[in-house]
Amino acid sequence: MNTLSSLNRKTLLKELSAEHYELLIIGGGITGAGIALDAASRGLKTALVEKNDFASGTSSRSTKLIHGGLRYLKQFEIALVREVGRERAIVHELAPHLVVPEKMLLPLIEGGTFGKYATSFGLMVYDVLAGVEKPDQRIMLTKEEALEKEPLLQEEGLQGGGYYAEYRTDDARLTIEVIKTATKFDAKCINYVEGEEFLYENGQVLGVKCRDVLKNQAFIITADTVVSAAGPWVDKIRKKDNSLNNKRLHLTKGVHIVVSHERFPVRQSLYFDVSDGRMIFAIPRGRVTYIGTTDTDYHGDLNHVLTKMPDVEYLLAAVNDAFPSVDLKIEDVESSWAGLRPLIHEEGKSASELSRKDEIFQSPNGLISIAGGKLTGYRKMAERIVDLVVKKRYNRFGEKIASCHTADIDLCGGEFKNYKKVKKRIAKIAEQCVLRGLTAQDAGYLVHNYGTQTHIILKKMTEFTPTESPALALLKAELWFAVEYEMVQHPLDFFMRRTGRFYFNIHSVRQFLAPILQDFKNYFGWNEQQLATAIQEVERALEEASCFE
Ligand code: FAD
Repeated sequence: MNTLSSLNRKTLLKELSAEHYELLIIGGGITGAGIALDAASRGLKTALVEKNDFASGTSSRSTKLIHGGLRYLKQFEIALVREVGRERAIVHELAPHLVVPEKMLLPLIEGGTFGKYATSFGLMVYDVLAGVEKPDQRIMLTKEEALEKEPLLQEEGLQGGGYYAEYRTDDARLTIEVIKTATKFDAKCINYVEGEEFLYENGQVLGVKCRDVLKNQAFIITADTVVSAAGPWVDKIRKKDNSLNNKRLHLTKGVHIVVSHERFPVRQSLYFDVSDGRMIFAIPRGRVTYIGTTDTDYHGDLNHVLTKMPDVEYLLAAVNDAFPSVDLKIEDVESSWAGLRPLIHEEGKSASELSRKDEIFQSPNGLISIAGGKLTGYRKMAERIVDLVVKKRYNRFGEKIASCHTADIDLCGGEFKNYKKVKKRIAKIAEQCVLRGLTAQDAGYLVHNYGTQTHIILKKMTEFTPTESPALALLKAELWFAVEYEMVQHPLDFFMRRTGRFYFNIHSVRQFLAPILQDFKNYFGWNEQQLATAIQEVERALEEASCFE
């Protein structure tokens, strides 16, 4: 059975408690996933535990851009811009279907954040730092050209635009594909297992007492080194290790809202000014446009971060100010998500001024923690952590271990030569989709989500086709795939993080909730009570994503 099959859990749990690991990672967001892949591919015997679902923390709540972070240039974070800028191209090559080129338009308005010359210079520096190739380098647009690219822009006050290259992704799918790739190198990764307490020998961390959250059973995993990649929870874990010092996290909340593309029909991605001096994104994606983000200090429950009415009002006002003809209303918001940035606290700095750099904390007890950083920089962050683990092993055991080679490891589903091949595959799959009663647009969704694995889902779909509508048959096939290969345990894992439908096609979630949850019941042997609880949980999440207090 596949290691990441949801139905393989018992065997995996047994193995985790029976074996000793060279590295145990706490946290299955992009950072933990990246570390697992880097370590396992260098030959380290690696395990990873995630207390909820993979990517259920910040790694499914980002702006979903693999970007150099233009705004960090404004803060003179040159090294950060250079590193993540260069990483964009590498991550694109590793998964060209999932990290796709996306041109960004930055409208220049009178009194805006960036003036014409500063933008031109800034974007040029951005291109140079990121090593962007000639055809993709920034172009400065006149007012007329900017309006041609985006007719929704307000003419008054518009001075032109900067037009530059970024990449768009699905953060949760990127995380799951990194986890899947790590398991190919024999990493043992499991979700719904919480690291609860550290175990020590001679004052050094020797393992972790864990809890299987689904069965409420405790067990122990031992390891030579433990790394905490727990994102916003990193300080809580450092506290458990008694190693929390003056350097702490500063959590800020970022909200995105989703409206139908019909209501905000941007032709392309935009990064535009808000009246308070910040800038936000509007990104078209299939049948929707999403808008974000906010940036406010957060002191609430880390496990239940909600979009609130003031967040939504702020984003709607920002759009309506910049695009008065659009006139978005609260009723237009179909879905939303809210996430926490685990930033490093700096005295006297506001949420937006804090650095996005990652930080490594080493405790005297041997625990290594990493927080901050960007989705985009996950591979480099992983390299730094594993280099540290390797150094420790050399000092302790005299062991020599290979250096990082994740830049050469295609992610699962990403075995395309280049983006042209992805586009060709989409065209081919579109023909198959139409033949199966789906739409040609479904091909884009499938290939961008699953890449070269799409054919497995389409093949499975035929098993459901005689009795179900094509749309439901597809969803059932996707669920089968998620159970078989992607350790889905709960309907929200599936709707939010394996398919993204909860955000980008929320109608399909409502429409097919009952039959899909019936399939969950069958796969997992739930009783009626368990089914009823799961339905309630999904309905509550739907409400939280679209109704605000
Ligand atoms: P997380 O994804 O939060 O992962 C930590 C995991 O640890 C969680 O899943 C949690 O459940 C688990 N955990 C915690 N405690 C335990 C325990 N005791 N046992 C087991 N597991 C535990 N970056 C970009 O590059 N591009 C963007 O467009 C972008 N946009 C952003 C927009 C917003 C609003 C935000 C908030 C961030 C954005 N970022 C972006 C930053 C990026 O999303 C984060 O840097 C990244 O996702 C952090 O990943 P992580 O794995 O460190 O943390």
